[in-house]
Amino acid sequence: MDCLFCKIISGDIPSAKVYEDDTVYAFKDINPMAPVHILIVPKTHISSVNDITAENSTVVSHIFEVAAILAKDLGISESGYRVVSNCGADAGQSVFHLHFHLLGGKQLKLEMC
Ligand code: 5GP
Ligand code: ZN
Repeated sequence: MDCLFCKIISGDIPSAKVYEDDTVYAFKDINPMAPVHILIVPKTHISSVNDITAENSTVVSHIFEVAAILAKDLGISESGYRVVSNCGADAGQSVFHLHFHLLGGKQLKLEMC
């Protein structure tokens, strides 16, 4: 499968890893929109939120556990942060491997859309 994030997870494409376990990989976004901008992804290929099911959704709750751990480690758990997943064209999804942006380290724009 020709998937950028699968290649990052396998190490075929380099990334600035910040966390890894059996099911989740997290790395710095190459084009950060905030002082902290981490991408948290499942190691299994899921294309987007559209493809989350009862069979694969356990990894999503685990991703949020990892988001909380990373927010604390990176010093933004008290100042605040946002966890976002873009799904499809109207949301601007550009990589079709499910990912959650962890954004913080500054006052984020209050507009959601
Ligand atoms: P999306 O637009 O799909 O919600 O988010 C994709 C994100 O992946 C973007 O924020 C983009 O900067 C990031 N990205 C794209 N290519 C690479 C890459 O090769 N390495 C890393 N670390 N991030 C990437
Ligand atoms: Zn993939």
